[in-house]
Amino acid sequence: MANRGGASEAGAVRIVVVGGGIAGLAAAHRLIEVGAAGQIPVEPFLFESRDRLGGIIATERTGGCIIEGGPDAFLTEKPWAVALCERLGLADRLIPTREAPRRTFVLHRGRLEPLPDGFALLGPSRLGPVLRTPLLSWRGKLRLAMDLVLPRGRVDGDESVGAFVARRFGREVLDRVVQPLVSAVYTADPSAISLAATMPRFREMERRHRSIAWALARSAPRRRDAEGSGPRWSLFVTPSGGMQDLVESVARRLPPSAVRLRQGVAAVVRPNGARMWRVDLADGTAIAADGVILATPAHQTARLVAGLDPDLGRLCEAIPYASSAAVTLAYRRADVGHALDGFGVVVPRSAGRSILAATFSSVKFPGRAPDGQALLRAFLGGALVHGLLDRDDDALAAAAEQDLGDVLDIRARPLLVRVHRHPAAMPQYLVGHQERVRAIAAQASRHAGLALAGAAYGGVGIPDCVRSGEEAAERVLEGVAGASIPGALARPRR
Ligand SMILES: Cc1cc2nc3c(=O)[nH]c(=O)nc-3n(C[C@H](O)[C@H](O)[C@H](O)COP(=O)(O)OP(=O)(O)OC[C@H]3O[C@@H](n4cnc5c(N)ncnc54)[C@H](O)[C@@H]3O)c2cc1C
Repeated sequence: MANRGGASEAGAVRIVVVGGGIAGLAAAHRLIEVGAAGQIPVEPFLFESRDRLGGIIATERTGGCIIEGGPDAFLTEKPWAVALCERLGLADRLIPTREAPRRTFVLHRGRLEPLPDGFALLGPSRLGPVLRTPLLSWRGKLRLAMDLVLPRGRVDGDESVGAFVARRFGREVLDRVVQPLVSAVYTADPSAISLAATMPRFREMERRHRSIAWALARSAPRRRDAEGSGPRWSLFVTPSGGMQDLVESVARRLPPSAVRLRQGVAAVVRPNGARMWRVDLADGTAIAADGVILATPAHQTARLVAGLDPDLGRLCEAIPYASSAAVTLAYRRADVGHALDGFGVVVPRSAGRSILAATFSSVKFPGRAPDGQALLRAFLGGALVHGLLDRDDDALAAAAEQDLGDVLDIRARPLLVRVHRHPAAMPQYLVGHQERVRAIAAQASRHAGLALAGAAYGGVGIPDCVRSGEEAAERVLEGVAGASIPGALARPRR
C-alpha cells in the first residue's frame, strides 16, 4: 500500500483525525492550538469522506434566507462551544434567540397550545400554569400533582426517560407533553432513551429533593427570566451568518495541506509491534501516524476498527442511530394564518402527523429571511419512524407542506423549499448507554495513541461534541508525546 503522507515533519508528532464534523474539527483545532504553543510540535491531518466540512452542520444561503439543514443553534449553559468561538474570534458574531416570544407550542386536538409557562422538558417548575393548560385533563393534572407527595422511586441503576416521567407525573404528561418535546430534541423514543445519559439532573433532583416539581420550583427563579416557556428554545446562540460560520472559522485555522476532503478512511491498523499507526484510505493508499482520532459516527467507527479490535467494533456497533430529515419552507408572511408568536411547535405521536416538530426560524433568530417572509423548518423521522428516508425529497417536502399548512393555517404554496436528509445521524442513548460508553472507553484505552470522539458518546449537542473532540486531541497528544497539555491553553472543564 502506498504511503500517502510520507515521513512526518522533523520532530513533529503526526496525528490523523478522521471525520470533519464539529467533533473532528474541534479535535484538529485543538491539535493546532497545542502545536502553536510550541511545547509539542504537531502535524495534523483531517480526512473527511464528503466534499465539505461540517458533517451534520450545513447552512445554505439562498433567496435572502439562511437555511440550516442541521443544527441551528447551541446551548450556552455548556461552555465548550462558546469558549471555542471566543478563541476563534467568533464570539462577537454570536446572536441569541429573540427576546420574545420565547415559547413553544404543542399540537393538541388540532390546535396549537402553548407549553405551560415554566415547563422544563420533563416537568413543571410552576403548578399554576399546568393547572390552567388545556393540554391536560383534570385527571392528568391531579396525577401530575402527585409528584409532590410520591416517595422516591426504588430504581437501581438507569431507567428510561418515559418510565421516569410516567412514574413521577403520570402517563398523560408523558404522552401529551414530554414525548413530543423529547422526540423533537433527541429524535428519540422517550420510552427507550436513558435518563442518566440524557438528563441526569432530573435523577439527581429526585435523589436530593424527592419531588421534581418542587426541585424545579426551587431553581426556577434563577432560570425563569432567561428561559421563557421551553428549554428547547432557551439559552441558545448561533453565529449571525449561520452555523456554517463556526465550521468556516475552524477551517481557516487549519493548514490547507492538513485537510483532505473526499478522502474516506477504510481502516485503522497497528501492525504487530509497530510504533506507528497505519491509516488505510478508501483510495487504496495509506498514511502512517503517531496517533489517530476517530470522530466518526459510532457505526462508522465500528467499521474502521473491526480489524484492529473486533470487541471495540462490536461495542460501537451497538449504539443505534435514528434517521431524520429537515424540510425548510419559506412563505409570504401574509400567507401564514397563525400569529407565529413562539419559536416553534412540537407534535405528539398520537396526532398522527408526519412532522415531529417545526421551528419558526425567522421568528427565533433575526436575519433568517427577507422582510415579509416566514421561514419555517419542519423535522420528520426520528426513532419512532421507520423507512422515512426511503421517500424521495418531493414526498418529504409534500408531507411537511401538508402538515404545516394544516397546523399553521397556510393558504399558499411556499416560495422556496429545501430538504436536508440525515441518514443514521442521531445516536440513540438507550438505557444503559453510560455503561456501554465506559466499556468503549476502557477498550479504546488499550490502544495507545487512539481516541474516539463525537456525538455517539457523551452528549449529542454541539458543545458536548466540541468538548469530546478537544479532549480526544489532548488524550492522544498526552499519550503520544508523554507530555501534559500546557496550562496556558486550559479549556473550561465544567
Ligand atoms: C437534524 C439535526 C438537528 C440538530 N440540531 C441541533 C441543534 O440545534 N443544536 C445542537 O447542539 N445539536 C443539534 N444536533 C446534534 C448535532 O448537530 C450533532 O450531534 C453534531 O453535529 C454531530 O457532530 P459529529 O462531529 O459528532 O458528527 P458528524 O457531524 O456526523 O460528523 C462526522 C463526519 O465524519 C465523516 N465520516 C464518516 N465516516 C468517515 C470515514 N470513513 N472517513 C472519513 N470521514 C468519515 C462524515 O462524512 C461526517 O462529516 C442536531 C442533529 C440533527 C441530525
